[in-house]
Amino acid sequence: MIITFYGVRGSIPSPGEATAKYGGNTSCVYIELSNGKQLVLDAGTGIRKLGKQLVNSDDTVNILLSHGHWDHIQGFPFFNPLYQAGRKIRVFTSNNSQHSKLCSLFDQIDGANFPVDAADLPSSSECIFDNVEATLSGDNIHIRQATINHPGGGSAYRIEDEGTSCAYITDNELEPPGKITTSYDQWVEFCRGVDVLIHDAQYLESDMPHKHGWGHSLVTQVRQLAVDAEVGCLAMFHHDPDRTDTEIDFIQQDNESFFRGRKAPSVSVCAAERMQIRLTARSGGQATIDIT
Ligand SMILES: [Zn+2]
Ligand SMILES: [Zn+2]
Repeated sequence: MIITFYGVRGSIPSPGEATAKYGGNTSCVYIELSNGKQLVLDAGTGIRKLGKQLVNSDDTVNILLSHGHWDHIQGFPFFNPLYQAGRKIRVFTSNNSQHSKLCSLFDQIDGANFPVDAADLPSSSECIFDNVEATLSGDNIHIRQATINHPGGGSAYRIEDEGTSCAYITDNELEPPGKITTSYDQWVEFCRGVDVLIHDAQYLESDMPHKHGWGHSLVTQVRQLAVDAEVGCLAMFHHDPDRTDTEIDFIQQDNESFFRGRKAPSVSVCAAERMQIRLTARSGGQATIDIT
């Protein structure tokens, strides 16, 4: 499995000198599986660059959408495969959000909010809400879903690929103040032993209590989850738009000292645009993790 980050920022794009190292594009992660199939996780502004690469093949594009908030859909109208005649694009989304029958990716392409109407696109697209796991399994792509603790709901995904695995849990508050959809213990089980955990780590203690209930996790909570679930690699994701490169570097240093001497994770990173994590299965042991 090869995981490449195209957008790692939460809430709103944040270009500029202070964010150049980690990048200012909103959520988009690309996963290549060992059987040649591929998955696109979310369609924030990072998907624009990915689209320029994907037009060079005619494979079906499979997009797993966590939820329909702007920072996860706003790059989609600029995704070049949409404009390729006959290109097959499948969008898988949750049936547990408050807007379950809306496919936000296409609803925004309506001729008013964007100059093109989705009905006029030359590609062949469909949105799949029900039986997501079974449908993908029929295509030899193996995932599981869990419901995020986030305003409006949505999905997290765990992807298994012939001895390697990755969990993508963004826009999730591990310990929300109100109704808990998925408990901390359930999250530990959901990502137990995964080779790579990509998790929303948008906030610091200094953001609280003001942002408690906004649907994002504290860096300290995510660290603890990585330890409790004994993951191989933690990739902190969905960085706050106001967080500078220097501040994220500090978070990374803190993480490294927190994890020193602990059994897991064996490696941790703050996700950055262009970062690539390559997993190689090893018989009877944890996958080899190469990060570039
Ligand atoms: Zn978000
Ligand atoms: Zn959100």
